[in-house]
Amino acid sequence: MPISKSEQKPLLRVSNLKQYFPLKKKGLYVRANDGITLDIYEGETLGLVGESGCGKSTFGRTLLQLYRQTDGRTMYYGRTLDDMAPKYVGETYRTLDKRRKALKEYEQKRDQIQKEYDSMQDSKEKYAKANELEEARKKANDAFMDMANLVGGFMTLPDLKPVSEMYGALYELAKKQHADEEKLVDLKLDLADAEYALKKANEEGKNTDSLARKAESLRQRVAEDEKAIDAIRGELAQARAKIQKEAEKYKDDEAFQHAEQFRDNGIDLARLSYNEIRELRSDLQMIFQDPYSSLNPRMTVGQIISEGMIAHKYFKKNDERLQEEILKVMNDAGLAPYFVHRFPHQFSGGQRQRIGIARSLAVRPKFVVCDEAVSALDVSIQSQIINLLQDLKEQQHLTYLFITHDLSVVKYISDRIGVMYLGNMVELAESQELFDHPRHPYTEALMNAIPTTDIDSDRKIEILEGDIPSPVNPPKGCKFHTRCKYCTEICEHLEPTMVECSPNHFVACHHMLGGTPEENP
Ligand code: SF4
Repeated sequence: MPISKSEQKPLLRVSNLKQYFPLKKKGLYVRANDGITLDIYEGETLGLVGESGCGKSTFGRTLLQLYRQTDGRTMYYGRTLDDMAPKYVGETYRTLDKRRKALKEYEQKRDQIQKEYDSMQDSKEKYAKANELEEARKKANDAFMDMANLVGGFMTLPDLKPVSEMYGALYELAKKQHADEEKLVDLKLDLADAEYALKKANEEGKNTDSLARKAESLRQRVAEDEKAIDAIRGELAQARAKIQKEAEKYKDDEAFQHAEQFRDNGIDLARLSYNEIRELRSDLQMIFQDPYSSLNPRMTVGQIISEGMIAHKYFKKNDERLQEEILKVMNDAGLAPYFVHRFPHQFSGGQRQRIGIARSLAVRPKFVVCDEAVSALDVSIQSQIINLLQDLKEQQHLTYLFITHDLSVVKYISDRIGVMYLGNMVELAESQELFDHPRHPYTEALMNAIPTTDIDSDRKIEILEGDIPSPVNPPKGCKFHTRCKYCTEICEHLEPTMVECSPNHFVACHHMLGGTPEENP
């Protein structure tokens, strides 16, 4: 069911994401993702389609930071900055002055190139300059956003020292809260252990005095730590309120308000350290295409499912609640309880995929990338797994990025669909709208290549001619121009930008099908 506009709350906001892989030959890169911008909304299934090699799997993995992105911003809203207190945030607060100087330099450079561009007459020269201008604009914009996201309009004040101090204090509180919460998790696990040992000793009629004392002391420490964390939360709320009150003083200052609107409480995944990303792994999960190779053959189903739960400190290894949780997760994924001690090779493809799903969902993620998750399965099993994924999504309020080359599968499961070609998103729309009104020639070509089972249909299957160009040296201008039947001169020189051709329908093409928004006001 498509999410209505008023309910749309982004879980991830991706801007200009680039993923380049260097080749051995110096200076050459595979441009697997070449500037992708899109929002992924909480609770939706976003389908991603395109021929193999278009960069869709790389995009899924880069979003999860399994590959660290080369450039761009990936904001995640499943946790707040106060929850995590990432290092880059403290670093930004400490170096506001230096950052503003760099921003000024980028802006001057951008303005200079803009002047040169405006004075040019020859269109070919202009096309060449347009790329340089775009790069300079991007640098200035990134430098602006780095600051505006975190300190909003305060970045425009003449003296940044008090701003640095005010935010520095806030950051220290958030960092303390985070460290104390980590300690509390460990303490709670120790308490659960102690209570279990006490219960067992009671059942066996043993002397429980020392165990009872240990459990009681842990219980007290948990209560004390909870109280201390509550106090820090209170201080954090006060520090935030102080900043808000300070910001109100500048409500009539245009420059301040301009920057203020870019304030963003999301976490920039691309700027997290390795350990910080590890901490977020439970939120951001992946279901792989190949259920045969993605499961460790030496581990039982129970071990495979519990591995993540232990690593993320939901349970200790011998906690009996862990066994209960494993069986619950298995049941959710449609696996019988007596499979728990079996090994992956004892299962069919569909069952192994269920194990893969159970493993991913055991850590209670918020966002799951399903990378060709049903492509290796028989058609009859495919629909069972798709139904399972749909049910689990409803029950656990998940958000999916569903990557596939199969348009009929993506139509069935997705709320919205993005079409990728050679590292770029070329069209993005609600599922039905995309199938009813494809606006990009590449989307049209993909649809024309779908075989029909309707014997009365007079639609001819058209196979898209030509090979996908190399992502190392992609065509200039529109990357699809070497295969596009609507190509004109401008397509060979100027890369089309994404525009909203009708509400929530985005397309990047100079000659979009059905006419441009200007032609259809
Ligand atoms: Fe085809 Fe030109 Fe549109 Fe590219 S921009 S898809 S070449 S019409």
